[in-house]
Amino acid sequence: MPRIAVCGGAYSNPYALRAFIADAQAKGAQQLWCLGDFGGYGAEPEEIWGLLREARIECIAGNYEVAIGRGDPDCGCGYRDPRDNEYAQLMYDYTRAHTSGAYAAWMRSLPTERRERIGGAVVHFVHGSPVQLNDFWWESLTEPEHAERVAASGADVICCTHSGIPWTRRIAGSLVVNVGVLGRPANDGRREVWYALLDLDDGEARATLVPLAYDWRAHAASMRRAGLPEAFVETVETGWWTTCLEIVPPYERSRGRYQLYRSALPGGFGAEMVSWADAPAEVDDGRPVVELFGTALFPARLWLYTNFHCNLHCWYCSVASHPKARRREIGPERFRELVDAAVREGFTELYVTGGEPFLLEYIVDLLVYASERIATVALTNGMLYRGRRRSELEKLAHRRNLVLQTSIDGAHAATHDRNRGEGSWVRAMEGLEFAQSLGLPVRVGMTETEHNGDEVPMLRELLAAKGITGADFAVRPLVKRGLSDSGVYIDDANTVPELAVTADGWHWHPAGADVATSPDMFLAPPDVPMAEAKRRAIERFLALRQSDGTLPRIYNCAV
Ligand code: SF4
Repeated sequence: MPRIAVCGGAYSNPYALRAFIADAQAKGAQQLWCLGDFGGYGAEPEEIWGLLREARIECIAGNYEVAIGRGDPDCGCGYRDPRDNEYAQLMYDYTRAHTSGAYAAWMRSLPTERRERIGGAVVHFVHGSPVQLNDFWWESLTEPEHAERVAASGADVICCTHSGIPWTRRIAGSLVVNVGVLGRPANDGRREVWYALLDLDDGEARATLVPLAYDWRAHAASMRRAGLPEAFVETVETGWWTTCLEIVPPYERSRGRYQLYRSALPGGFGAEMVSWADAPAEVDDGRPVVELFGTALFPARLWLYTNFHCNLHCWYCSVASHPKARRREIGPERFRELVDAAVREGFTELYVTGGEPFLLEYIVDLLVYASERIATVALTNGMLYRGRRRSELEKLAHRRNLVLQTSIDGAHAATHDRNRGEGSWVRAMEGLEFAQSLGLPVRVGMTETEHNGDEVPMLRELLAAKGITGADFAVRPLVKRGLSDSGVYIDDANTVPELAVTADGWHWHPAGADVATSPDMFLAPPDVPMAEAKRRAIERFLALRQSDGTLPRIYNCAV
């Protein structure tokens, strides 16, 4: 049965190419193929030529070979973002300057595709795809996009490279194999690179993607010696892409560590713009890209809904809570699991909310558990600290890692009660004072409506007299979500993600955590792990951002 080994871009990485030749031969491959992009990225372009010829590797030209062969001023990779192009240009200029005339002439002699009958199957070797030399054939393309490419070939097997991330699947009767590249890791956190083995017999084809270990240390050292950017070397050493990310679609990019160029981040965020907490400090570590999670565009803040029923029935409740709301209690066991997962996943703040969390008899124990592990804020209407609950609450006294955040909607009882119900202001103020008497840090949140905006200065004064000042008093606009049919309309297209978890699953934002009234903000069911919920939020962020290229606003959450 014929077995062939097919690799993609060698990217001036002779260390990986040597390993490919040895590994493929050891695995019994009778033919070795390389689908182009011999140069770029690494420091040793000319070495590649010798290895390709020595091992008699069947080659086709990629956009790099066409460009170098013709003496083009750029590589023609097909990047669209200027920052991607900046890095691409740097690699191309280096490669051109270190490629001999004889090698460039050989590149000119290569075809840009080949079609061979092997083991009874027609195998089409292309660089990008059958429709275009520098096409990025990503796994996440739509079905019609895949079908268009397969139809343009008609072969039993189509092998391609160029995008840098391997995948294989059957599409409309053809086996499509994106063989990945040898030149750099596949943005998967592994230092290995990838190639494909194909077994072809009697017209049947089977593909195996092979992770290939090679001497990445020698490759990294060679790049450093040549003075190539540290960001390129880091990718070799870590397996995560640090350049040319804008071309990568949301699905593939959300699986990598980094998502955005640092220069794409809006500057000047202050604490007042990012809900209750300080904006994450922007640390310029010299890397050109950043991880979206942990920035002001996806704060490391988890909102945990313990329940949805509430002792109040506020007319504007963004998650439609009220005394008879479906309870959706998350329960102590799941709560603890989520706290542990939040710590593992790098969340730095936990906001415990509902409904009214203090309706739950076990809430104090859970707040103790959470605040021993992560900075915790419990949101409450402050009305339930009576009887047994009052003595329970005393267990929280002087807990520095726990903040009680109380909702107060005005300086006068009548204003607050209009939103929240008769007698609620007096009890909320008593609750606030009781929390203070326990030595707990407290905050106050006010939801601004057309009826109470003029009371902001008065309430600020009243709270200042109690020692609640600065960022510990926040005024947030009314949101048109849940029970409210007025206020600021927010959705995933104009608001950054703040991951919220409820008994129903994962949600884009706490103000859209009621699946009945905010189905558009639903991300995933509850059995999806936290890491995957985070990834889905990132994927959605990138998809929405890419639709018009803008970044969403940060909304001061009023939950
Ligand atoms: S806004 Fe808060 S206090 Fe009012 S109903 Fe909703 S959860 Fe309850």
